[in-house]
Amino acid sequence: MTTDARRAQLRDNLNRTREALAAACADAGRDPASVRLIAVTKTFPAADAAALAELGQRDLGENRDQEAAPKAADLAARGLDPVWHFVGQLQRNKARSVAGYAHWVHSVDRARLVDALEGAAASSGRDRNLNALIQVSLDGDTSRGGVPVAEVEPLAERIAAARHLDLKGVMAVAPLGWEPARAFALLRECSEAVRRVDPAATEVSAGMSGDFREAVACGATMVRLGRNVLGERESMA
Ligand SMILES: *Cc1c(COP(=O)(O)O)cnc(C)c1O
Repeated sequence: MTTDARRAQLRDNLNRTREALAAACADAGRDPASVRLIAVTKTFPAADAAALAELGQRDLGENRDQEAAPKAADLAARGLDPVWHFVGQLQRNKARSVAGYAHWVHSVDRARLVDALEGAAASSGRDRNLNALIQVSLDGDTSRGGVPVAEVEPLAERIAAARHLDLKGVMAVAPLGWEPARAFALLRECSEAVRRVDPAATEVSAGMSGDFREAVACGATMVRLGRNVLGERESMA
């Protein structure tokens, strides 16, 4: 596919996705401006991420530092300055790299990672704090990332005490085999627990291409959409 054809395809996908998101907001009686669309560009080339940024898509998401770091550098070299959201499982030894380009980390799920991100954010010379969301493992199977529901509040306290991190809210992926509505209702309870620690931490990152309507109905403030915007990925990543 030529560059122009791909750009036109991305523009159409983006417009269709924004319309679908606006319709989901209307169905839920919500203002479309209350839900932020994050286009998850993982596995797609930097040229696609750049095209989306040029089309006015401000928020971009990635799930692996090895892929995200060069992509962020590529866009910066093109003079593009999107808001990068890191949404994948994160190892402590990648905290420094991620703090170098990400504005948001959606996958904060353990105290040792909080400490690593705090250290990285403190020494990175950033002019703003790093925004942190607590990833919740709604079914308690933490192998896919996330903190068990019962440990959300103490983790929130730890982030709130970190000077270079801003506690912003919660994130989750609906567990396999769960009704999305049940998952996102439980996430809303977790959001309440976090707001007991910091009433300003109101963000709820929930909803992917297959379940964003349910997430919007349950109060999501951020949806993370990959396939809807970029197309099917060639392999699971
Ligand atoms: C890949 C990914 C998404 C986007 O998934 P789609 O099904 O392509 O919309 C959202 N969140 C996370 C954490 C992801 O890894």
